[in-house]
Amino acid sequence: MRINVSQQLKASIGSTRKYEVSEIVNVANGKSMVQGEVGLIRTDRGILAKGTLHTGVEVTCSRCLSLFSCPLTLNIEEEYFPIADVVSSASLPLPEEPGCFTIDEHHVLDLTEAIRQYALLAIPMKPLCCEDCAGLCPSCGHNLNQGPCDCSPRETEPRWSELNKLALASDAVVSEQKGTE
Ligand SMILES: [Zn+2]
Ligand SMILES: [Zn+2]
Repeated sequence: MRINVSQQLKASIGSTRKYEVSEIVNVANGKSMVQGEVGLIRTDRGILAKGTLHTGVEVTCSRCLSLFSCPLTLNIEEEYFPIADVVSSASLPLPEEPGCFTIDEHHVLDLTEAIRQYALLAIPMKPLCCEDCAGLCPSCGHNLNQGPCDCSPRETEPRWSELNKLALASDAVVSEQKGTE
């Protein structure tokens, strides 16, 4: 996502420009479509990129372990510092902030790395495929989002135990009748 900002670096502080983002970025072991709008604002030191972007990454649900696309909103706000003066091409000192973003010697600002970092931070620690994900059956491992399994409901649901009692009672009647013959 390379944006040439040479004209803007020559502009006065505070000048802004809008940039439409619609590109594929390699986020976390997968390519994600990133869309939105970023404002580029000329600061006294460089260019501030600020905006809201939308993307999605493929993650594993922490409850049912199925893969799903998790939507992410990225509120980007990063200042980019030119490594070379736009007029004289002389190299410029960078701020002593570790990992600060730079504008290269061709006056290109690349948003890709910032988007990748923001996306990684936005992925939830315990992703859920849906808010009421039913998870897996603890005894057979069946994905309960796809319907009930054969284990637990018969033991726990009162309807079933009532039926079992009736079945036992009719068995008893049959054996009593057999006994009197
Ligand atoms: Zn799930
Ligand atoms: Zn089960």
